[in-house]
Amino acid sequence: MGMQAALLHMVYPPQCVACDAMVASDFGLCGACWRETPFVTGLVCDQCGTPLPGQDPGHAVHCDDCLAIARPWSRGRSAMLYRDKARSLVLQLKHADRQDLARPAGGWLMRAAQPILRPGMLIAPVPLHWLRLLRRRYNQSALLSAQVARLSGLDHCPDLLQRQRNTQTQEGRSRDGRFANLADSIRVHPRRSARVEGRHVLLIDDVMTSGATLAASAEACLAMGAAEISVLVLCRVAKEC
Ligand SMILES: [Zn+2]
Ligand SMILES: [Zn+2]
Repeated sequence: MGMQAALLHMVYPPQCVACDAMVASDFGLCGACWRETPFVTGLVCDQCGTPLPGQDPGHAVHCDDCLAIARPWSRGRSAMLYRDKARSLVLQLKHADRQDLARPAGGWLMRAAQPILRPGMLIAPVPLHWLRLLRRRYNQSALLSAQVARLSGLDHCPDLLQRQRNTQTQEGRSRDGRFANLADSIRVHPRRSARVEGRHVLLIDDVMTSGATLAASAEACLAMGAAEISVLVLCRVAKEC
């Protein structure tokens, strides 16, 4: 720690990113918040990161959803489950202007991503429609992808993908409805098509529910010649088990 940072810490001791408890280092959770945050550990679905029961069998395993739905990507991981403290952190990142949360989230994403990171990957966020971008002023997924790019040293293209039309909200739709609502709604930015050709793209989003948005993003990259797609999300909405 530099002298300036040390002095700053004497005046402003680091606080937990989820409450105001004091913590040992910047950008961390206190013990109590850590215990309330459902980080994904153990055996997971190799395509979406959902936790699965049992021990690691030494080969890739998949959850029921990924067996039932054709996923246009090869591998995927999730840092947390979308409930309790993780849910409130994501909602604050999205709606409460807590852009500072992207930094600790980047560390959590990196840890979850270790098994699927490959040299030469191109990192890109799932896009927000420009109307929503105007309202919210930032794309939370792009904040996350920037952190993962910074920590991994991989190439980052924050505007690789764009929304074609303002899709209706996904909330309240059935799974089939969600996929239909998003088909062809995302495309590779016309000026970025050269960047995607032949690349293994790592798509980053804040929350994966049905996987429809990630699927539309992956299809758009593949249509422009991407070699392979992997996905990484901060939170996976998992069925209660
Ligand atoms: Zn706390
Ligand atoms: Zn899965």
